[in-house]
Amino acid sequence: MIDSHIHADTRPYEDFGKMAIAGIETAITCAHDPLRMTTSDVIFDHWYRLLNNDVKRAAENGLKLYAAIGIHPRSISDDFQRALDELPSWLEEDLVVAIGEIGLETASESEKYVFKRQLQLADELKMKVIVHTPRTNKKEITKITTSLIEENIDPSLAVIDHVDNSIIEDLIELDAMLGLTVQPQKMTAADAIFILDEYGFDKFFLDSDISSSPSDPLSVPKTVHKMKLAGFLEKNIQKVSYKNVFKFLL
Ligand SMILES: [Zn+2]
Repeated sequence: MIDSHIHADTRPYEDFGKMAIAGIETAITCAHDPLRMTTSDVIFDHWYRLLNNDVKRAAENGLKLYAAIGIHPRSISDDFQRALDELPSWLEEDLVVAIGEIGLETASESEKYVFKRQLQLADELKMKVIVHTPRTNKKEITKITTSLIEENIDPSLAVIDHVDNSIIEDLIELDAMLGLTVQPQKMTAADAIFILDEYGFDKFFLDSDISSSPSDPLSVPKTVHKMKLAGFLEKNIQKVSYKNVFKFLL
């Protein structure tokens, strides 16, 4: 299995062992907002940690980590232009498979600018993007997110994450992949399975988005287990827990 969206830097060493024992071979750790990003140097130290300390901690537990590097909408430092300028050199690292997670939280002017610049960079480099959708005003903000994607990048380079029932209808026709985050207080395995049953298996990845918020490092294997019990075909389970993300990001 692949967990397509985690935040390894906020998790204890032991989580990686539990994930590996449960059958997760690979995970993508995404840049986010673990600290107050007072200057771009804090952003760079965060990126450095993902690509070094966390890759090592996971590997020692049998979990292969790749990284998505980028400026999260809640991590925009006052000197964000410097982070945008330096970003391309970080993307050359072997373990970087996408720009992410990026997107909009409140759709402020600076968020829109930083998101747009990163989409344009990804389009230029033909790199994939992992796109965040927020909890608050989800439907309204996701509409703005989607139009920025359509204006600035080939949508087939994007995965839009944390998709739920409130936005699925607005996204299903878009030529992008969609992430289902199974997470306490956000979406249960049953909610995710309901969406898969309704919309098919070709466009979706499962992820846990484990972070310092309420999280379950085993949410992908638990969802897979529930799908098996519910009688879903093995090939469809494979698509959403491994194949689609392997094809798209690795
Ligand atoms: Zn996340």
